[in-house]
Amino acid sequence: MSDAHTLLGLQPGATTQQIKRAFRKLAMQWHPDRNTDPAALEHFKLLRQAHDRLLATLLEDPDAPDTNGTEAYADGPAPSRGPDRWQTLEINFEEAFLGATRSVCVRTPQPCSQCGGSGLEKLSVSRLCAPCRGSGRIRSENGLARCPECEGRGYSSTQACSHCAGSGEEVGERWLEVQIPAGLIDDDELRLAGEGEAHPDAGHPPGDLRIRVRLSPHPLFRREGRNLVLQRPVSALRMLIGGSLRIPHPAGLRTVPLEPGVAHPRALRVAGAGFPGRGSRAAGDLVIELEPMLPQAPDRQLHALIEQLDVALGKSATRHFPELARWEADWLGE
Ligand SMILES: [Zn+2]
Ligand SMILES: [Zn+2]
Repeated sequence: MSDAHTLLGLQPGATTQQIKRAFRKLAMQWHPDRNTDPAALEHFKLLRQAHDRLLATLLEDPDAPDTNGTEAYADGPAPSRGPDRWQTLEINFEEAFLGATRSVCVRTPQPCSQCGGSGLEKLSVSRLCAPCRGSGRIRSENGLARCPECEGRGYSSTQACSHCAGSGEEVGERWLEVQIPAGLIDDDELRLAGEGEAHPDAGHPPGDLRIRVRLSPHPLFRREGRNLVLQRPVSALRMLIGGSLRIPHPAGLRTVPLEPGVAHPRALRVAGAGFPGRGSRAAGDLVIELEPMLPQAPDRQLHALIEQLDVALGKSATRHFPELARWEADWLGE
């Protein structure tokens, strides 16, 4: 198989129609006007060269099979519907929790508005036909034959359409309203039947549009499985005596009870308040990572209060400061 065949994704012995069709499809994808990849232009040129080279080879070899438009598929029989189209949709945490309706742009090939799909535009001045070099005939196994490119005229009065680069197609934009159910997370997929690529042969339904979801990063929240995790600074004193905490949440503010406990970094869990369940997958938990904060810059009044508190705690140090009491017993003999 030649490089040109590989490049165009064709099998050896591909027909004129197959070559043209394969090129048209790839040109849609790689034309630098549509593809912002810096390598697109080079690749497009290679495709164009491969297309020209294969067509020229067919002209030189009139015995090459031409099934006259019948598609030969590399892997088995023709599929009954067009290929699926993949798109990524970024959603935020609020949309993942509450669901949403989003407009999604689908870019579909349609006949070029400039040349009406012919891929050709008229030249103001005719020019020499390149394949036959103006002779109107080309060499074949049976001697000289009429040049199919210029139909024997030796000159051409058309060139590849500058708008579509000869592909005969341009990209049309179609907007679809997409219903995003609550509970979608990264790599979940929405499938919109019939919104995919058209089948190359008329009479076959198009493929599906498959929208893969990506959760955009959030400055406060993060996702771990279906759990919603956030860090929250809390007064170390409040962690000791307990109370309630106000917590931001994608579905709205929440108040969460805080049990009295140690004033060390620890996690508070609210079962079922993470990402909503979907299908067989249960809802996740809300995980609040508590970060104890000690008071800073006490003023005169606070100073007195803390003094009082520290003295009171020190009176039963073995209970309130067990490590401190142990250290002092070991090293001060108290
Ligand atoms: Zn010619
Ligand atoms: Zn055009």
